[in-house]
Parts: sequence; structure tokens; C-alpha cells
Amino acid sequence: MAADLFDRKPEAPGTVPEGTVVGVLTTQPLDRILDYRAPEGGCAPGDLVEVPLGPRKVPGVVWGAGQGDYPADKLRKIFRVLDAPPLGAELRAFITRAAAYTVTPLPAMLRLALRAPGLTDPPAMRKILRLGATVPARMTDTRARVLEVLEADPYRLFTLGELAAEAEVTASVVKGLVKAGAVIEEAAPRDLPYPTLDPSLPGLELTAAQADVAERMRAAQAAGGYGTTLLKGVTGSGKTEVYLEAVAQCLTSGRQALVLLPEIALTGAFLTRVEQRFGARPAEWHSGVTMTERRRCWKMVAEGGAQLVVGARSALFLPFRDLGLIVVDEEHDGSYKQEDGVLYNARDMAVLRAHFAHAQVVLASATPSLESWVNAETGKYRRETLSARPGAVQMPQMEAIDMRAEAMGAGQWISPSLAQAVEARLAEGEQALLFLNRRGFAPVTVCRACGNQVGCPNCDTRMVEHRFLKRLMCHQCGETIPMPEACPSCGVEGKMTAVGPGIERLAEEAAARFPDARRAVLSSDLYGSARALREAIAEIAAGEADIIIGTQLVAKGHNFPLLTLVGVIDADLGLQGSDLRAAERTFQLVRQVAGRAGRSERAGRALIQTHQPAHPVIQAILSGDEEGFWAAEARERQAAHMPPYTRLAGIILSGSDVSQVFDLGAALANARGPLDRIGAQLFGPAAAPIARIRGRHRVRLLVRAERTAPLQAALAQWVGQVSLRGDLRLAIDIDPQNFF
Ligand code: ADP
Ligand code: ZN
Repeated sequence: MAADLFDRKPEAPGTVPEGTVVGVLTTQPLDRILDYRAPEGGCAPGDLVEVPLGPRKVPGVVWGAGQGDYPADKLRKIFRVLDAPPLGAELRAFITRAAAYTVTPLPAMLRLALRAPGLTDPPAMRKILRLGATVPARMTDTRARVLEVLEADPYRLFTLGELAAEAEVTASVVKGLVKAGAVIEEAAPRDLPYPTLDPSLPGLELTAAQADVAERMRAAQAAGGYGTTLLKGVTGSGKTEVYLEAVAQCLTSGRQALVLLPEIALTGAFLTRVEQRFGARPAEWHSGVTMTERRRCWKMVAEGGAQLVVGARSALFLPFRDLGLIVVDEEHDGSYKQEDGVLYNARDMAVLRAHFAHAQVVLASATPSLESWVNAETGKYRRETLSARPGAVQMPQMEAIDMRAEAMGAGQWISPSLAQAVEARLAEGEQALLFLNRRGFAPVTVCRACGNQVGCPNCDTRMVEHRFLKRLMCHQCGETIPMPEACPSCGVEGKMTAVGPGIERLAEEAAARFPDARRAVLSSDLYGSARALREAIAEIAAGEADIIIGTQLVAKGHNFPLLTLVGVIDADLGLQGSDLRAAERTFQLVRQVAGRAGRSERAGRALIQTHQPAHPVIQAILSGDEEGFWAAEARERQAAHMPPYTRLAGIILSGSDVSQVFDLGAALANARGPLDRIGAQLFGPAAAPIARIRGRHRVRLLVRAERTAPLQAALAQWVGQVSLRGDLRLAIDIDPQNFF
């Protein structure tokens, strides 16, 4: 078992004798580390402990030596050291730095690292379920689903409730199977090590170009120490295959590896791939994982019983025993930025953690973020490039469809040229993808009698029609209302009209245009569960659809072998608006989605509908001149004094009372001294572009500083001067990605 790899605790227990003053960080919202005396039997830095706080007992972590700022005779004793793996020095240092970088209170950062249920419970046995040998006499749909879930991954451990939930059946269905002997219930230790991965198993035979890159990455990994590699390669060029070589080297060295994926829907395929490569499945960490598995993952990562974790951004805060490699796949993806609670960018935090862990980072992407591209240009990151797909697989041929020259009917979004190309693919028995990055039926619902657009009652946004649900929905707060018959404003009936296309409307058009084709619509809100979405994706990959109609969900990493044509319905969509990253995002998204075409032997083609075929971004997409695009983008950012050449921080104020929010903004503007002292510029306060979300009014400020200025310290000092009364909230967003 992998647990044998590590038989030593990072710090021997009891190194601090009873009575010694130590600093304890709790998860309570206090802005300081508190002094306590070590308990009977002593304690060690990193130990999870329980301490008295006022009349309560709260959990905390021994953070280091005491501060000595509290009268010695009043110091209280730690109640007890909890029976859980300690947080190592590396993780504690990372949490401290991450908190400082994101201007987040330490306790909030610590909470990210302790986000596993029942951590402090004593080890125990519990009932788990696994597949039995008997086939039940009576088979029903629900019974079959339970067995399928168990067969899908024999290593996963389920409790009764978890198995029922995963299979979407009632507990009595599972109990029936237990009675029939088809499912076996047995007692097991709660936290078992994961099955051992074997890095010496052979991978695919690499092409010369792949082997070259893999060799250097293996060497860097074997050398130990920190380093970041930007692994850039067109979609399908074998980036995953190559970084699995770095993972293999990491595991061979006896260290642990973490692979971050931007989307839970991608984990299924990835786990299978790891199993093919290393003979077993790795640990999983994301919101779709059961509580039992989360706890197991946390503990095993700490104890060395997990060699590889595949997860979402929050996996960065797991207590790895000896982390040697972090892969950030699709590193440009916007979902790496956590946009609520603690605001952090997992890509940047991965690099930070790797510094402390003396680990390697691999940032993989076909279309890296401008930040990473610049870091590679300046030599901060190594750069590796895979410029071709292996074997006979060609990059898709890219062409624009000039929409000004197409004969379009009202309410039509598929041009005659695109329709013709789709027909041609269908005739060959191949798949076509129609891509539109807009959920719902139509972005705007307007009354033709009075011109009213239906808005959200809680937010300053328009409601989006979801015809599938027969409701209007707010994409900010999730509020829905039934589709109104009469205009909510003027009361006239039968005049509510959908304006503009959404994915559901496009699906309707495709149904009318290609009535004989089998269609699959891929949009995050059309699937009730992660499992349903996974199944839909697997069905498409198996060829059970002819036309795929999808949002950006399909742009991310899926492999559809029969797909040979991608039609981008509106390439201009992302170019509107004044967002700093509009060009970069459009370029990434359209190149990514186009890359879905022709991933096996059949050649692929991407057709891009645009009203501005001469636009520089569209031209860069078509020509594939990526270096040219990034160089031009970088020059523009530099000329405009924008990131990554300067540093931004967004300040978002919100509250239910609009004047209080604006008063707070004015108070901050008046107290800008600390910003002036580091030569930073302050923009705002101004009403946010979305001035109200969930009934809270919003005001934004933006700070811009030179890269070398001590921005975080100045921000902390600056905002520390104001107090937040009532329900006012202040959030600091370092390196903001969104400005709404
Ligand atoms: P990327 O991560 O760059 O999109 P992948 O590593 O997923 O690329 O590879 C794309 C497809 O090509 C996968 O199905 C993979 O198994 C296959 N592939 C990659 N390299 C090779 C190779 N050297 N020999 C055979 N197949 C390969
Ligand atoms: Zn809303």
C-alpha cells in the first residue's frame, strides 16, 4: 500500500513540553493568533487542537511559538490534541502567504485547509457497500442503476445513503439488493489508503516531439526543487500524455502529485486515463465527491495513503505530506478563479504552494493566459511546446463565414453556408457541433406593446428565458419566475417576445433545419446531476448524436472522435464590451472549441460566423498566429499600463442600504493616504456595472499599482481605516478577472 511510502510524521509529536506558550490559529473570525499553554503530554507545531475561547471549545491549529502579548498568568491551556494528521510547516507557510497575497484574514484561509467533514472524529469502523456475486432474480431500472454505480469504480467506498444518492434511488432499493445478495454490506475502517499507482507501467509510445518534452519534464521533476513549466500545445497534441510522464516521475521519486481540472465533468474521463496509465484510480477531490470520500482523501493525503489527487481548485489546500508536482490543466480557464468567499486564483496559488513545497508546476493549455505567456517570455517559467497532433491527425481548417453576405431570416442563427457544411458532414455519418456561449432560450424578453424588458426583482439584470423550464431565470441570483403571459409592466397579453439567441433556441432551429439528425444539447443547466451530464458526454463520444449543440461546456477538453465540424454561431459575442480580457477570452474560447474538431483520423473543419471578419482577433483565430496574437495583446496591455505589467485590485462594496454603500465608498476615497504612499492610482467609487445583486447594492473601486509596489500591505492599511456597520460588506479582489 502507498501508506508504506511514508512512515514518519513530519514533526514528531510532543516536541513542545506541557506548559510552553504556543500560538494557536483558530477558524474563528478573529484577526489574530492567540496564545495558549501546551497541554498535558505536550504538542507540536501543526497539531490540530481544541482550545477554550470564552465559554466555548473551538478547533484550531498550533501555528508556532506564542506571541507573548498576553499576561502569562491569564493564559489558558489547550484542551487536547485532536486525533488527526497535523498541518505541516509547508502548508502553514503557504496559508500564511496566500492570506497575505489575497488580503484575506488568516482564519478564513485556514478554513479552506480544514474543509473536510469529521476531521476530529476518532478513527472508527462504518458500514460500507460493495458489489456482491449474486445477480438479483428481479432486475429493475433502479436496481440496475445501483449496480452500475458500484461496477463503475470498485475502489470507491459508499455508505448506504451515499450509494442511494449517487444512483438516484431510495435507500430501500439498495436494502433490497443487500437482501438479495447482489450488494454486500460490511464493516470497514473509515479511511482506507487508495490503491497503489504503478508509475513503472508503460505509457503510450510517444512521438519524437512528445518524448523530447517529456524527457525534459521528467528531468526537472527528478532534480527536485521548485520550477514552473508552461506546457503549450494545440488541442489533441498529447499534453495530457506528456504531463502524465512528469506525474510518473514524481510518483517514482516517492512524492505526491496533484492534477487540477477546470471542470468536474472532465474528471470521469481523466480517472479512466490514469487507471490505464498507472493501473489504478487516484483520489478525487471536488464538490461532487461524497463526504466519506472527502474525509478519506484529506486524511490519506496527509498520511501518505494517496499518491495522486485529481481535483478542483480547492484541492490546493489539502495537507499533502510531500507534494512534488502540481498540474494545472487548461490553465487559462476562468473557473480557476474563485469568485466568492475567499477570492483567489488557483493557478497563481499553485505556483505559490509549489515554492513552499519545493515542487514542480505544469501549466498546460492550448491557449495560455496572457499572464503565463508573459512569464514564459521573460524566463520566469520554462516553456515547452507541442505543435502537432500525433500521427495523421491534422489541426482543423479554420474559415470565417461573413454574416453580412448571408441571407438570414428573422429568428435564424444558422447561416446557409454553415447549414450546408453540416448537411455534408451528416451525410458522411460524422458529427457536427454548433457552439453558442449563451445558456437559456433567449437573452432578452421584451414586450412588443410597451418595450419593457423583464428584469430580475433582486438584481439589476435582465431575466433570461429558459423554455425548457418554462420560466425566466436570473443568471446572477438564480431567481426564476413563470414565463409571463401578460407584460408585467403594461399588462398587455400575448406580446412578450424572445430577442436574440440562446442555446435552447439554437437547438430548436437545428431541429427544424435537420429534422432527421439526432441532437444532443450540452448546457450546464439542462442536467440535474453531474452523473447525468457525464452520461450525456459519454453517449456523444460513443456516436449517439449527430449534432451537438453546446455552450462553453463543450469547449473544455472533451474528446469526441467522430466530430469533424465545429460551427461557431457568434464569434463576435465576446468582442463586445470593454472588458480588459475580451480579446484574450474570445481568442481562447473559439480556438478551444474549434480544437474539438478532427481529433481522430478524419480531418476537422471549423466555421466561424462573424460580422467582422477583418477584426484583428478574428484574423488571429483564423490564421492560427498565436505568437503574433499574444505579442500584440501584450504590447497593448503594456501601453495601457494594465496587467500583467501592472497590478490591479478590485474593491467591491455591498449592502442593502444604497446610501450607506456609497458613503463607505466616499470614506475609502477620502482615506486613500496609504495608496498614495505607494504611488497607486484609485479609480471610483462608482456604481458597479451590475448595481444590485440579490437585493444588495454594489459599488466598486479599482486600485492600480506598479508590480514592485507593496500593494497588499497598503490595501490592508487602507481598508483597515473604515469600519463596516450593519450589513455592509467589503471584498478585495487581487488580480480581478471580472469587473461586473
Ligand atoms: P491534449 O491533452 O493536448 O488535448 P491528449 O494527451 O489528450 O492531448 O491526446 C489526445 C489524444 O491523442 C488522446 O486520445 C491520446 O490518447 C492520443 N495520443 C496522444 N499522444 C499519442 C501517442 N503518442 N500515440 C498515440 N496516441 C496518442
Ligand atoms: Zn437576480
